[in-house]
Amino acid sequence: MSEPDAPAYTELIGHLQESALLASCSHLLGWDEQTYLPAQGAEHRAEQMALLAGLVHERTVSPRIGELLSELDRIDLGAETAAAANVREARRSYERATRLPKELVVELSRVTTLSQQAWVEARQAKDFKKFEPWLEKVIALKREEATAVGYGDGVPYDALLDDYEPGMTAEKVQAAFTPLRDDLVSLVQQIAGSSVTPDRSIVTRAYSIDAQRAFGRRAAEAIGFDFSAGRLDEAAHPFCSGIGPGDCRLTTRYDEHFFPQALFGTLHEAGHGLYEQGLNRDAFGTAMGHSASLGIHESQSRMWENFVGRRRAFWEHFLTPFRETFSTALGDVSLDEFYAAINIVEPSFIRVEADEVTYNLHIMLRFELEQLLISGDLSAADVPAAWNQKFEEFFSLSPPDDSVGCMQDVHWSAGLIGYFPTYALGNMYAAQFFNAAQSELGDLHQQFSRGEFAPLKDWLRTNIHQRGHLYQADRLLEVVTSETLSHEPLTDHLTSKFGELYNLG
Ligand code: ZN
Repeated sequence: MSEPDAPAYTELIGHLQESALLASCSHLLGWDEQTYLPAQGAEHRAEQMALLAGLVHERTVSPRIGELLSELDRIDLGAETAAAANVREARRSYERATRLPKELVVELSRVTTLSQQAWVEARQAKDFKKFEPWLEKVIALKREEATAVGYGDGVPYDALLDDYEPGMTAEKVQAAFTPLRDDLVSLVQQIAGSSVTPDRSIVTRAYSIDAQRAFGRRAAEAIGFDFSAGRLDEAAHPFCSGIGPGDCRLTTRYDEHFFPQALFGTLHEAGHGLYEQGLNRDAFGTAMGHSASLGIHESQSRMWENFVGRRRAFWEHFLTPFRETFSTALGDVSLDEFYAAINIVEPSFIRVEADEVTYNLHIMLRFELEQLLISGDLSAADVPAAWNQKFEEFFSLSPPDDSVGCMQDVHWSAGLIGYFPTYALGNMYAAQFFNAAQSELGDLHQQFSRGEFAPLKDWLRTNIHQRGHLYQADRLLEVVTSETLSHEPLTDHLTSKFGELYNLG
């Protein structure tokens, strides 16, 4: 990329890259904490992480950055250039960080650490009352954060959402979610009334964990994840961590009697991993070497997990070797039966176990409650009742207790408010990107059924990964698909796929 000939720019980029190097050391320690750290090392690890977090924060709010940014104010960096993007994002993160009073940052970190512990205990005890005071504290601090950051003409929730999905607002999310919710509720009802009943036992038979491990790796390799620049390990809560150029680490978890967890989880994380591996290495530490948003990141993982991995074509290629590996479990199972079993749609309590259709409803429920909590229209004490009422409305089910209701996710206890919508945005972006890829690449179904995944991967690399954070998510979507955010491609995908599976009229 051509660099502007300004000493302030060179110094700024140098500063950002060194901060990113420092931060990547803590990412590596974080990965180790979730995978191999001996139990007794936890306390020392917490000190290491806190030290690094402090150093990174000091660098982020360094007055020198402010000086460099005001010098760069006077230079024309062009429209939609790499330099303009790098400076725009540097300014965004500097302004956000410097607007937050130090006492608030420290208090948020202290309260969310304690609140997560309280959440673990309260969830185990199925006792919301134990968590309630902590949720109240977290919400109060997040409201302070929103006020400090500012939200223009919008609502306080926007300031929180913007941290994960730059440029997105509650209003835009709502405009996409409302029609999607109506479509999904109706689709779920139609499926419930269908006479087609897939055989669930197919996915819960015995699948040896060693063989699952080998097959998961093979599938990740097949879609293009580069194991000479990455790893796959086990962790209680699966994630993908892009440590830096040439080092991207995935984790998954195995259940001998439920293979979809590890296999589709691996494809999901490998989708995140392909994004990380596809970023421009030389731009590490700058916006151009970074993902555009959490929603765009999630669009990549959902695409490989659902639009590819849960597609019939994928199994036209993979069922034969899969059946050879697990001949006892699958000897008598046809492709149709298998495809139906990995795509069962059924309302259930737990978000992370939800199918492709109901998943989005779980997100919308959280999005609605979060906004009420931040606007002050819902108190922490009223969360269980509000949750259960919405759950009944969306799923026609009542959670038997709060551990499988409003206390199932770690997010709120950790202060991650405004994060949930990015999961469903990812599904909508994925549908829009997939359509664009399909119209440029021809029949992807045919390609997948021959085990050819490189054309899609290369298309994503060129159109999304290599662009880093040149654009905000909505602009990237527009550049790649010539569309604005819409629920329709996702509705169309789900209606046609599940209409066929459940024989709907
Ligand atoms: Zn994900």
